[in-house]
Parts: sequence; C-alpha cells; structure tokens
Amino acid sequence: MSYSFEPIGVVHSCFSEKFAIPRQPQLAPAATATLELFAPYNQAQALEGLEQVSHLWLLFVFHAADSGPKHLRVRPPRLGGNRRIGVFASRATHRPNPLGQSVVKLEGIAEGKLLLSGIDLLDGTPILDIKPYVPYADSLPDARNELAPTPPPAITVEWSAPALEQARHHGTRLQHDLIALIEQCLAQDPKPAYQQPEPGREYGARFWDLNVRWHYPSPSCIRVLEMQLAHPAR
Ligand code: SAH
Repeated sequence: MSYSFEPIGVVHSCFSEKFAIPRQPQLAPAATATLELFAPYNQAQALEGLEQVSHLWLLFVFHAADSGPKHLRVRPPRLGGNRRIGVFASRATHRPNPLGQSVVKLEGIAEGKLLLSGIDLLDGTPILDIKPYVPYADSLPDARNELAPTPPPAITVEWSAPALEQARHHGTRLQHDLIALIEQCLAQDPKPAYQQPEPGREYGARFWDLNVRWHYPSPSCIRVLEMQLAHPAR
C-alpha cells in the first residue's frame, strides 16, 4: 500500500541553507517564516478559529534531506555525531519517510499567509498539514527522554565591530532582528560536536540573502566576523 500527499503550502523562512538551523523548534524565537497556503486553503474559511490558537504543529517534508540508502541506525548530532541509535529514537532528517514535525508559534494571519516564529525549517519546505497545538494533550510534564534530557547548552556569541554594524544595517533592510536571530542560532553551536574547531578555521551559513561568517576563538565561544550579500542565485 502506498499513499501520496500534496503540499497545502510552502514555508518562506530566514534559513537559506541547512547549516546553522536550530535542531529543534523554539530554540531560536527570532527565527521567523511565512507559511504561504495554496488554494483553496488560503481562504479565510480554512483558517477560521486559528486566531484562538497560539502554537501550531507543522507536518512537513524534509525536501532537502540527503537521499541515498536508508539505515536502521543514525548518528544524531545531539550525541556528538559519532554514536548511533535507532532511527525511530531520533529526529534525524534521513528516515524511512522524510517527514518532519515542528511546534511553532503563530504570530499572525495575513491574506492566506501564516506568520510564524521559533521555526527550524529550511526556506522552501513543503507543508503537508497544520494542526493546532493542544496544551493539555501535547505538553507532558512527566515525559522522559534520556537521549535529549535538556536543551543543548548555549555557547557564547561575540561580534566583531564590523559584523555588528553590518547586522544592524541588514537588519534594518530586512526589517528583522538579525542580531537576535544570529545570536540564538549560533549559540546552538552548529558545527558537528566531534569537531575541535581551530581558531583559524572559518565557518559560514546563509540567512536570507546574507553569508554570515564566524570562527571559534575558543571551543565554547563563537565570534561573528562578517556578513556579506550572497551572490545572486544563478
Ligand atoms: N522538528 C523537526 C526537525 C528535526 S531535525 C522534527 O523533529 O521532525 C532539524 C533539522 O532539520 C534542522 O537542523 C535543519 O537543518 C533540518 N531541516 C529543516 N528543514 C528541512 C528541510 N526542508 N529539508 C531537510 N532538512 C531540513
């Protein structure tokens, strides 16, 4: 038996590449997106009642997940990227069916679009379904997960003077708190946990149309070096 699904919408997000996206939603409240609904779901009728809901479950396709053979065990970044666990014990993107789920905050509704924050979704992510978060059923104070007992520890993020100035400039242009976004995402330490970062090695990731570059003056500290407009896509 097989099933097929049509997306009901697409996410336009601040994350133009996978690297440096937080590994779960809610870790970067300044990470925002617009969910564009496709007809007929962009009509007010389909959204009636949503103004009474603060958070949503998004069910989506990991459309940019690695293709290739599926494995029974995966190496989640949370465990340092070198220990394997069963695929069903992890939230890895490389899984039997490339389905993701995220709880996000609904900031507003405008013309068939949902304004979201606290997202962990790549730009262009196809959305299969939206459901309201139901606190009494979905929030379980007694739940246990010893593989991921607490949020990952945040590391320090510092700015070079030019990078801070560029972040202010581009933040105004993009009408977004770019400083908060970059701090919240880099504090998650995007590099694989098993990598010992040499201070001379530079890392980069793309947020909107900006290439943001940083390095690690010490293993527990990131310094943002600069951000430049990315070359227009070919
Ligand atoms: N909250 C989701 C995602 C967990 S994996 C779930 O539990 O199902 C989180 C990672 O998914 C992020 O770090 C990001 O790099 C990756 N990701 C986000 N959107 C993606 C997409 N459309 N395709 C492939 N990977 C994606």
